[in-house]
Order: sequence, then C-alpha cells, then structure tokens
Amino acid sequence: MFDLKSRVAVVTGGSRGIGRASAIALAAQGAHVVVGYASGEAAAQEVAGVISAAGGSAETARLDVSSSDVEKAIAEIAKRHGRLDILVASAGISIDGLLLRLKDDDFNQLFAVNLKGAVYSSRAAIKSMMRARFGRVILLSSVVGEMGNAGQTAYAATKAGLVGVAKSLAREYASRGITVNAIAPGFVETDMTRALTDEQRKGILDAVPVGRIGSAEEIAAGVVYLASEEAGYVTGETLRINGGMYM
Ligand code: NAD
Repeated sequence: MFDLKSRVAVVTGGSRGIGRASAIALAAQGAHVVVGYASGEAAAQEVAGVISAAGGSAETARLDVSSSDVEKAIAEIAKRHGRLDILVASAGISIDGLLLRLKDDDFNQLFAVNLKGAVYSSRAAIKSMMRARFGRVILLSSVVGEMGNAGQTAYAATKAGLVGVAKSLAREYASRGITVNAIAPGFVETDMTRALTDEQRKGILDAVPVGRIGSAEEIAAGVVYLASEEAGYVTGETLRINGGMYM
C-alpha cells in the first residue's frame, strides 16, 4: 500500500518541521523527493542526506515561494525529470499579534508566503501534472484556519484561504486525474511552535482531547496517504490531524 516508486515529489519548506518529515516519509515509500528551501540550504541538504542514507532518492532545490519566480524553478524540476507527480506546499510562516498591532508588512508577508506561495507552487505543478493526467497537490492549512485564534487573524486568513484554494483547484482539475487536498494540523512540535510559552502550551493541551502536541511524522503520514494512488477518490478535502482539538 502507498507505493510511491517512480513518483517525483516537490516539498516546499522541506528543510524543517512538517516539510522535512513529509520529504522523508514520501521517500521511504519510494518517491524521488526534491527538498525545497528558501534560505536553509544546509538543512535541506541534511534532509536529502537522511533520505539517501536510508536508501532513498532526493535532491535539494532553492524554492522561495514568496515570489512567482518559484514557478520557473518548479517547471525546471518537472522538465528535468520528465514528470512531477506530487506537490506538498509546506512552506509557511507565522507572525502573531493582535489586530490593532498588526503591521501591514507582516500582513503582506503572511499572504505572500502562506497563500500566494502555495498558489504559485500549485500553478507550476499542475501545469506538468495535466500532461500526465495524474497529480497530487497537498496544501498545509491549519486548525487555526478553521477555529480562528486570538492574535492570529492574518495567519488564520491565509490558512482558511488554502481550504478555498484546495476546493477550487479540486473542482478545476479532477477530470485530469489531479487531486488537491489540504491538511489542517493541530499543534505540532516544530520550530514554529517551539517558541510558545509554557502557559500557551498548557492552554493548548487543555483543548486537545488526545492530551499531547502532535509530531511532524503524524502529519507526514497524512501527506503520504493523500499522495498515494489509493487516495484517488479524495479531493477538495481537508484532512484534520489535530488530536481532536477541532472536529
Ligand atoms: P517550520 O517553521 O518548522 O517550517 C516552515 C518551513 O517553511 C521552513 O523550512 C522555512 O524555511 C520555510 N519557509 C519559510 N518561508 C519560506 C519561503 N518564502 N519560501 C520557501 N520556504 C519558506 O514550520 P512547520 O511547523 O513545519 O510548518 C509547516 C506548515 O504547516 C506551515 O505552512 C505551517 O503554517 C503549517 N502548520 C504548522 C503547525 C504547527 O503546529 N507546527 C500547525 C498547523 C499548520
């Protein structure tokens, strides 16, 4: 099950956290993985090294999703391999603050990376997936996009936006064999959440029936499922992996 041999996958934000775990998990199922990074080249190479050491296949590529130039870079990867089967759009940033203190620059940056970046990446990937009449696009949304969170108005807007993007692209490209889904993780132990205070952590854990923070590997397991042949009848869906925090 979930055999990804001969598949080529691009993971944006692949050098860390959920992207890193997804890259490793996809490669473990046989995919050749392009580990995308914006500035963390050494970290991306470490991920590719972990994959190679486990007998998998990987390369790294600079994929800064904050500019539409990322489309050219993804198109070049697809051309070089003659295919691009899987896109995992994991690149993301969080900048928190109450609305009245929200700076325009932060607002714009959140939209540029989290929302526009995922759309640019999807556009480039879908172009080559259409030719093959097969594709799997997986966008990293968030529980915060569904529930909202005080201090995360802009972040939540980008993550809710991705759900609309997934549903729209799912409708546009289902007839071409391309599925587009979102994953909405709850709170996951990565660099993004490591900055939380003990008090914030406690507040979150009180709201999670499973009673713990999730791991990047638990999100990556959902990525592998949605990337698989077996998930061909799942599209426009948001897969919640949140320990029951929101259901
Ligand atoms: P992370 O900070 O560990 O990793 C994010 C990655 O995105 C990093 O590798 C970073 O370099 C990269 N990135 C940032 N700006 C970029 C750009 N302009 N171009 C390309 N890459 C860029 O975060 P994470 O926790 O692994 O988050 C991955 C995704 O999952 C994000 O979209 C995040 O919003 C989402 N998410 C995370 C959590 C969580 O609890 N950690 C919960 C819900 C959703």
